[in-house]
Amino acid sequence: MFADVRAILLDRDGVINVESDAFIKSPNEWVPLPGVIEAVAALSTQSVRIAICSNQSGIARNKISGANLSAIHRKMFHTLVSAGGRIDVMRYCPHGPDENCRCRKPRGGMILDLCRTFNLHPKDALVIGDAERDLVAALDAGSRAALVRTGRGLEAERSARRLQVPVFDDLLSIATEFIRQP
Ligand SMILES: [Mg+2]
Ligand SMILES: [Zn+2]
Repeated sequence: MFADVRAILLDRDGVINVESDAFIKSPNEWVPLPGVIEAVAALSTQSVRIAICSNQSGIARNKISGANLSAIHRKMFHTLVSAGGRIDVMRYCPHGPDENCRCRKPRGGMILDLCRTFNLHPKDALVIGDAERDLVAALDAGSRAALVRTGRGLEAERSARRLQVPVFDDLLSIATEFIRQP
């Protein structure tokens, strides 16, 4: 299933950290999901690029300041890296749903940009998300996708089946399967 995957592009909220309807606005509100720190550390032992691509419309909605978003990401990086993890690139879309940008998922712009950064064909990238828009963005870019049941993932399971995207319990399940492949 993961043959020739050379980049793993992770959604943030609901895949790496606990999702919140009220937006993650400060480092205190950033809480990693169970097993994620181990999962990123395990993936980091593999010859695969690892990136995060996240819609952060809280910026456009004035719910989060740029400084707080940076502080959240510093905490996330510190948490993952101090456990042996590696995040090669972090990308986020700061726009709102009405701005019609090319980066906000379900559009594939962030994924295409990351593939360009890594000098990879989009089909060699695996996008991991907890929402239909992550999966649609992946397929829009020509990449592969997987859904996790964490975050809003349970609500998106039917979409995943329709899009023929594989479903896993969580990021650790994917990491375990990924490192087991020959
Ligand atoms: Mg999400
Ligand atoms: Zn955008």
